[in-house]
Order: sequence, then C-alpha cells, then structure tokens
Amino acid sequence: NNNQTGWNFDNSYARLPEAFFSSLSLNPVGSPETVILNQSLAEDLGLNIAELQSEQSTAVFAGNSVPEGAFPLAQAYAGHQFGHFTMLGDGRALLIGEQITPEGERVDIQLKGSGRTPYSRGGDGRAALGPMLREYIISEAMHALGIPTTRSLAVVATGEPIRRETILPGAILTRVAASHLRVGTFQYGAGKGDIEDLRALADYAIQRHYPHIVGDDNRYLSLLNEVIKVQAALIAKWQLVGFIHGVMNTDNMTVSGETIDYGPCAFMNEYDPETVFSSIDTQGRYAYGNQPGIGGWNLARFAESLLPLLDENQDKAVELAQEAITKYPELFKENWLSGMRAKLGIFNKEEQDEALFEELLGMMQKHQADFTNTFRALTMDKQEEAIFKSEEYKQWHKKWQERLDRQEDSKESSQELMHTSNPAVIPRNHRVEEALEAAVNEGDYSVMERLLDVLSDPYAHSGDKEEYCKLPAPSSLPYRTYC
Ligand code: AMP
Ligand code: MG
Ligand code: MG
Repeated sequence: NNNQTGWNFDNSYARLPEAFFSSLSLNPVGSPETVILNQSLAEDLGLNIAELQSEQSTAVFAGNSVPEGAFPLAQAYAGHQFGHFTMLGDGRALLIGEQITPEGERVDIQLKGSGRTPYSRGGDGRAALGPMLREYIISEAMHALGIPTTRSLAVVATGEPIRRETILPGAILTRVAASHLRVGTFQYGAGKGDIEDLRALADYAIQRHYPHIVGDDNRYLSLLNEVIKVQAALIAKWQLVGFIHGVMNTDNMTVSGETIDYGPCAFMNEYDPETVFSSIDTQGRYAYGNQPGIGGWNLARFAESLLPLLDENQDKAVELAQEAITKYPELFKENWLSGMRAKLGIFNKEEQDEALFEELLGMMQKHQADFTNTFRALTMDKQEEAIFKSEEYKQWHKKWQERLDRQEDSKESSQELMHTSNPAVIPRNHRVEEALEAAVNEGDYSVMERLLDVLSDPYAHSGDKEEYCKLPAPSSLPYRTYC
C-alpha cells in the first residue's frame, strides 16, 4: 500500500490552466517485470525498497495501477525540432505526480513508454527495452559525474513486443525530474496566444525553480536570466566531459537546468568538435562543438516566448530580451574556462589561460587523442600515448608547468583538484552496448549492474577500473545512435 511504499504525491502541474495538459487513463501492459531498480535514488525519495520490489509497485511502474494521490496526465508542449517549429506533447509518457521527498523537495515521477496519449501523433506510445536501459545507465552516470540531470528510478519490461524496424521487447522507464518544464512548454504557451495562461506558466516555473526571484521588479526577466545562467553552466559541464546530447531541440531543454532526453546521446572518444553520433543528425547541427551555440539559439527561442510578459511595450520587451541573451556566450565561456582550469589543476585566473587550453585541444584533435584519457593521463602523470611524445606537447607541458608555478597553491592541491575534475570512467559506448546486449538478448543484468557500479564513482582513479578506461577495438564503422 501507498503509505508503506512512501508515495507522497502532490499534483501542482495539474492546477495549471488546462491547455497545458491532458488527463489520462492508463494503458495497462500484459506481464510487467521490474528489471532494474535504483535503490539509492529510492531512498532519497523516501521510498521503501522492499515495497518497491513488490508486484504492486511493478504495476505502478508499468502504468497498470495508479497509486493513491496520483493524477496521471500528459503534458502539452511545442518545440523546434532541428530548427523547425512543431506542436508536440508527451506522446509516450505520463506524469503520475510529484513526489514530495522527506527533505521537502518536489520531483516529477514520469513513466516513459506508457502508451498512447492525445499527443502521440502517429506513434505507438511505447518504448523499447534497450533504449530505456540506455537512458538509465547514462543518466545515472551523468548524475555521478556531478552534472544536473533527470534520474532513473526503475525500468520494467512490459512483456509486450513493439514494432520498430524489427520486433523488440517493450519497456517503461520511471524518470525522476526537478520538473518537465521545457523551453518548448513556454513556446506552446506563447503559441496558444493566451497571455494569462502564459503568465500562469511563468509564475509556476518561478515558484517551483526560482522562488528567490518572486519579488523582483520584473520577475519574468529574472526568470529568463536564471534559465540562461543554469543552461550556460549545464552545457559547459557537458563540454568538459565530452558529452554529446544529440538532439538539442527546444522541447529537450529544461527550465530547471537538468539534462533531459537521453535518446541519441553518447560520449566522445577522440577529441573532435565535429563529432556526431546520432543517425538522424546528418547536417551535424548538434555536433559536440555546436552545443554551446545551439544552447544560445534555444535560449533565444525561450526569450521570444516570454516577450508578452517582459514589458507591455513590445519594443522595450525585445530590448530586454536581447540584452539578456547577449550575456549567454560570456556566461558559457566563464563556466567553461573555470572548468578547464580545474581540469588542469589551476586555481586562479590569467588572461592567457584560454590560449593554453586551446593549444592543448588543438594538439588532441591533431593526434586524435581520446578526450577523457588525455586528461586522465595528465592527472595521473602517466603520459604514454603518441600525443605526449610530440615536440609540441613538450613545449606545451613546459608552459603548463610554468603556469602552475605562478600560482600560490601547492602541486599537491593542484593534483587533488585534477583528480576531482577529470573522470577516470565515463560510459564508453562499447561498454554500454555490451551491457545492453547481455540484458536485452540474454536477460543477464549482471554486466549492466557492474557497469553502473563503476560509473557511480567516476572520479575514483585507483584500483580495478583500468578495464573500463580502455578504448574500444578499432572498428571500420563509426558508432551510431538512434532516437
Ligand atoms: P524526442 O525526440 O524523444 O524528444 O521526442 C519527440 C516527440 O516525439 C515527443 O513529443 C515524444 O513524446 C514523441 N514520441 C517519441 N516516440 C514516440 C512514440 N513511440 N509514440 C508516440 N510519440 C512518440
Ligand atoms: Mg524529448
Ligand atoms: Mg527521446
């Protein structure tokens, strides 16, 4: 029962104007089975592990039964997909409610793959087991890396086949998020043209994520500034670990500043700003090196959707929006520079730092050096790869050491900073694939469990992780991801 499990739902989103959602009845599945459960997250949410392992909880994760206090709904939103504006909405997800945690935090509990909704368009509303497990692994790895992200509480296999290019086993992921408010939610509100609905949405977002700005003179401008700030910080963090989101459509950008939608994402191996993994990103719009710029483009769409609220005089509103948006590239750069300083053990700022970083990245690109392992080698002071043998590297190394000598901090504290800023392990594509293959094809979840365990402590450089730092065997085919 609910009380024993610890569900403690509220449904504040359902109190928004009705244009923003559709309440839903459930689409039960045949024989659900919980295949993975996130015990540490469950604890943080105030949920009882033993109860979560019961059949009743599996029924909840499967969308077969509504827990007490839940109010299943699909959210409406819009979005620019690869630059083109579309009306969307949760086509295969339902929000069952907001869990209020023992700490008093409010988080969305959403089932992804739960069946058709009024926003499904042609889709079946379902998800395949492989991609849901993949989201589970990568989102949890991102969390452990210290990057704001939606989390994964559980995956259930539905026992039902779904039709894609082949027949695949179906699954539902329970996703936990600070909220599912997106840039696209605001585009939807603005597109509908009812300014009071848009204001209700903005006030809701402020109340939920940025309560400290409620009393500001122009709180909608403050909201814009806050979202610019959190997204600049987020995207810098992606760049600093080589994370490529893959589908930075405006419907996949949150107002909270959490990473969302782990479809075609993947981590870069060799440093190359043009790296793209997604099979549908044929133009490289969402390539690694384009992510910061696309962030700015998306934020400009967010600013546009807020125009009716920024000032009664729309010329003035445009001026305010532009002024805010102009700050994004600088904010991104500041976040990125301070992250790069930490990766190289630097505590203070110098004018020439950016040039030092760009020089290193240029060498990495030229030598096709692995992004993660290059920084790890510098951290461990164990430089064996080709890049480290080059004359240009030796010169760069000398400059870097002189830079470190110019700061007051000791070599030990620099090393310590590098240890906590450069991950030893990331979810390497071949490791993720291996775990998914064992789980999906053999029903063997032990490979995934081991991988999750290693990924849960990515900044531990000692011991038995060497296996997980290795690069994949050379392949004639590039790694490809699918939505
Ligand atoms: P995404 O590319 O994952 O951001 O999804 C874009 C839109 O397509 C969202 O509105 C999804 O809800 C919807 N969608 C994705 N897959 C399906 C599906 N199998 N059935 C219905 N809608 C879907
Ligand atoms: Mg999406
Ligand atoms: Mg997706």
